[in-house]
Amino acid sequence: MGAVCSNYRLLRAQAPLAECAAVLKADAYGLGAEAVGEALAAQGCRLFFVAHLEEGIVLRAALPAAAQVFVLHGPVPGSEREFLRHNLVPVLNTPGQIDAWRALARSVGRALPAILQVDSGMARLGLTPVEVDALLERGDGLRGIALRYLMSHLACAEEQAHPMNAAQLARFTQLRSRFPAVPASLANSSGIFLGPRFHFDLLRPGAALYGIAPVAGAVNPMRPVVRLQAGVIQVREIEGGASVGYGARYRAPGRRRIATIAAGYADGWLRSLSGRGSAVIDGKKLPMVGTVSMDTCALDVTDLPAARVQPGTLVDLICADQPVDAVAAMAGTIGYEILTSLGSRYRRRYIGGAQNDETSAHEAATSV
Ligand SMILES: *Cc1c(COP(=O)(O)O)cnc(C)c1O
Repeated sequence: MGAVCSNYRLLRAQAPLAECAAVLKADAYGLGAEAVGEALAAQGCRLFFVAHLEEGIVLRAALPAAAQVFVLHGPVPGSEREFLRHNLVPVLNTPGQIDAWRALARSVGRALPAILQVDSGMARLGLTPVEVDALLERGDGLRGIALRYLMSHLACAEEQAHPMNAAQLARFTQLRSRFPAVPASLANSSGIFLGPRFHFDLLRPGAALYGIAPVAGAVNPMRPVVRLQAGVIQVREIEGGASVGYGARYRAPGRRRIATIAAGYADGWLRSLSGRGSAVIDGKKLPMVGTVSMDTCALDVTDLPAARVQPGTLVDLICADQPVDAVAAMAGTIGYEILTSLGSRYRRRYIGGAQNDETSAHEAATSV
């Protein structure tokens, strides 16, 4: 957890005048929202984002009373009162969500807080410019709604030279001029590194907190957070020509020693890593062979002394020598998908406290 806290401080320091929230959706990208939330609250983080109401209810209970929890999806119709009951603040994305929140404010007789999302070009969530016009023209569209922030989301922020960044900034700036008194928020992890013009009043990093590289093609400034290990179940020698795994996709070119590892696609060791993955033992990168199974995969350990790899031996799947972004590249996906796919079968071990712990580099997620 020391690494997550250190990453939070590094991100916050990029924009000293802005507030820095933390995005903890999908169980803090698979790492444990309650544990991460508690640690970041101790760092002074006061604002947290999740995607779903249910995630918000769980996280809210783990955080200090002064923390605010925002729910990115907003209320599904009929769930508005649950937000009040659990002290959660919705992000309002549609005219319907705004209408429902305004109606609730009227019925409880007091102003209710919310974030308003506008679409600056990603076409995912938030009011279109036309819907913003309609909302403001009717005059009472936001009556009883205390807008905490106006927010939007960037589509291409990890590619710093992408023209979408400037286009979205321009459109967001224009939309923001319609809400002059409301603080604004645009930047996710990658957006923070696009520079001060993208910072506005509130940063919303997720991935970079968890060690994922925020800028494509650049050195990753974040500390690695996850160390993922899995145990060897069985080791065997196979002859040249023998096959390994489902579909017999791998045929040994000669005598090989193969270790069966207790992690498969049900553990987020994605099936697309078949024939492409690797694992690390003693700093040595070893090739995975054959098709990834649901609960296991196969590692070619021929290059290590037989005594080094035995049932129970732990191999590193994600570590400093094989960071999450490298695993993602092998799997043909992004680090986000690797982390959020890890599943619930690992034993999570958090290393380093909530205080200014600079020494412990990793959280360990261990499967044995
Ligand atoms: C997920 C998400 C974030 C965090 O994005 P990262 O790229 O993980 O930093 C911020 N804002 C919104 C709206 C999101 O959906």
